[in-house]
Amino acid sequence: MARTTPLADIRNIGIIAHVDAGKTTTTERILYYTGKKHTIVEIHETKDLKTTTTTDYLEQEQKRGITIQSAAVSTFWPMVKINVIDTPGHVDFTIEVNRSLRVLDGAVVVFDGVAGVEPQSETNWRLANNYNVPRICYVNKMDRSGANFVRCVDMIKTRLGSRPLVLQLPIGSEDFFKGMIDLVEENALVWDSDDKDAKWQIIPVGDGTGVADKLGITVPSDRKILDNYAKYRSELVDTALEMDDEAMEKYLTDNVPPTADVLRACIRKGVITSAFTPVLCGSSYKNKGVQQVLDAVVDYMPAPTDVPAINTVDEDGNPIGERKCSDDEPFAGLAFKVINDTYGALTFVRVYSGVLAKGMSVTNTTRGKREKIGRMVEMFAEKQNPIEEARAGDIIALVSLAETDTGDTLCDTDHQVVLERMRFPDPVISVSVKAKLKAEAEKFGAALGKMVRADPSLHLETDRETNETILRGMGELHLEVTLDRMRTEFGVEGIMGEPQVAYRESFTKSIDEHYVHKKQTGGSGQFAEVWIKFEPLPRGTGFEFVDDTTGGSVPREFVPAVEKGLKIQKEDGVLAHFPTVDFRATLHDGSYHDVDSNALTFEIAAKACFREGIRKAGPQLLEPVMKVETVSPGDYLGDVIGDMNRRRGTILEQVERGTNTAVVATIPLSEMFGYIGQLRSMSSGRASFTMEFSHYDPVPKQVADEVIEEVAKRRAALNA
Ligand code: GDP
Repeated sequence: MARTTPLADIRNIGIIAHVDAGKTTTTERILYYTGKKHTIVEIHETKDLKTTTTTDYLEQEQKRGITIQSAAVSTFWPMVKINVIDTPGHVDFTIEVNRSLRVLDGAVVVFDGVAGVEPQSETNWRLANNYNVPRICYVNKMDRSGANFVRCVDMIKTRLGSRPLVLQLPIGSEDFFKGMIDLVEENALVWDSDDKDAKWQIIPVGDGTGVADKLGITVPSDRKILDNYAKYRSELVDTALEMDDEAMEKYLTDNVPPTADVLRACIRKGVITSAFTPVLCGSSYKNKGVQQVLDAVVDYMPAPTDVPAINTVDEDGNPIGERKCSDDEPFAGLAFKVINDTYGALTFVRVYSGVLAKGMSVTNTTRGKREKIGRMVEMFAEKQNPIEEARAGDIIALVSLAETDTGDTLCDTDHQVVLERMRFPDPVISVSVKAKLKAEAEKFGAALGKMVRADPSLHLETDRETNETILRGMGELHLEVTLDRMRTEFGVEGIMGEPQVAYRESFTKSIDEHYVHKKQTGGSGQFAEVWIKFEPLPRGTGFEFVDDTTGGSVPREFVPAVEKGLKIQKEDGVLAHFPTVDFRATLHDGSYHDVDSNALTFEIAAKACFREGIRKAGPQLLEPVMKVETVSPGDYLGDVIGDMNRRRGTILEQVERGTNTAVVATIPLSEMFGYIGQLRSMSSGRASFTMEFSHYDPVPKQVADEVIEEVAKRRAALNA
């Protein structure tokens, strides 16, 4: 088969936004206008499960009204194939944003025209910076009371540190929002009605003189934007032409204004190199501006060949080469999401190079396993269109792969590579979990295993002392949703203990520790002696092991056993059994016995050396600290701040948001349980908050003592 869509006509984009900014509504409209879906489903209807939208199809998402799973949907506008990856706005699911950013070439960032840049947009923006994802901003909800386009553009500049390039000006706002002026084409687009099939008139605006009167705009603040038409247009031209010296020269020296095509080419270049970020506006709900967003995706978002080739990496994740996006290269793809649905396992794959055809046998290089490619589909939410092959640049789903998990590389068996991995944050919260019915313990364990394989931000472990199964994740909601999904997708109910904060341990002083492991049992004995220097390292560095022995004091073959012993023991810290982080252990001396020493005796000696040493090195407990933003009407501000202080919070910032005030603070996660209820009762339900992980900090002595005592009690009770 030959390629049906040229590579230049493919756009792999994501839509990212703060919860409630209108991402789902915008995606629905995109699918409607691109002709894939013929009835528009209103989001508020789905919240009580009356009907379903295309990208939010899991029961939990509908109940909660938030998008958790990233579903990939393919569509055409008009001849350009747009693969839309939906991403969640809720920070408990940053992982989903991460995984989709990894496989996207560009993103449309949706803002609520009233709220402007919200904290989760900042988080997502930073993540997109990490992945160098080119972006277009879309200021939605221009029809809502309090919508303010100029403020939103300012916030994109100040809060996100980006260089916004205004491509459209809103014509009116709130109830009088009629459409927008296209600064590239110099036309006003005025909609006939709010109807989904409404048409828009195209009215040339010339040099913008008198345009507010011409369009019948009377509200002073709305007129002001239009009165500044000439300023916005010249800003657009000046900024865009930075991308094209020749056109700039013509414009400056000969006074020849660039054509719309020249401007579009320049904007495209600027977007792809992230020199600036275009800003559009509209109201998805009132069906204005969505088609223009689609045009912008086609005009300005990169094709797979416009972005740098994907890196291939060695075992440690260091880049060693690249794979070009081309059908002529050997096949390589990345499995970026596994969904278990009514059809079984569906593995979403971005094909980075080559051709993947039905019936092919490929290698999963991450696991060293073979996979046979059976059914292959293009996704349209619950509808799946079977396809025979997928090519470089495509995003498709494979049915019933046996060995492949999220993050794995699939590739041509004769040309094996491992693709750059996805980055996942460390979990900050944990709960003990078990099956509700004892008889279902095995089924529960199997389902849990599948959930963890599909979501790398979940970690599973068995507490060695209490034997409990511990599930760790990014937040309370994340863990709740995981259990909920096990119920709906695997038909097994679980119960969850109290959520526990994922504390860590570290130490404050360097120490050189010595340990001799010696045992005489009957004839044979056990012997190993080690000298290990433990030094604290800066936060976030993890663990380093150095072998600095000389003259065979510790035989070379036993050095790995010392490292292994330390790696095991550091997970079980000396204060309260939390993992010990950020330190270097240098093995610099020791001794052995010809008969009585072996790998095991050195492992045992290393473990004991760690335990004894760290106790003397000023051990301390570290706790995750969250960045919390609360938005409340001014009347409740005193109470909100007082409560934050009681929660050991540090207030960072206080900013006016229309009639509300936003307070940004850092607060230890352990103080945040039950915050939502407290905040609601304090503010008669009018305040809201968001939080995200910020950093780890030492726990104050008194609080640490309580934590240590509580852990000891809990473990004693479980062992009794
Ligand atoms: P998401 O959480 O970002 O996916 O947001 P949704 O698309 O679910 O929208 C959240 C709420 O805002 C829903 O009640 C929508 O009907 C509403 N909404 C979305 N877009 C607009 C808009 O352009 N104008 C107005 N007034 N409401 C909107």
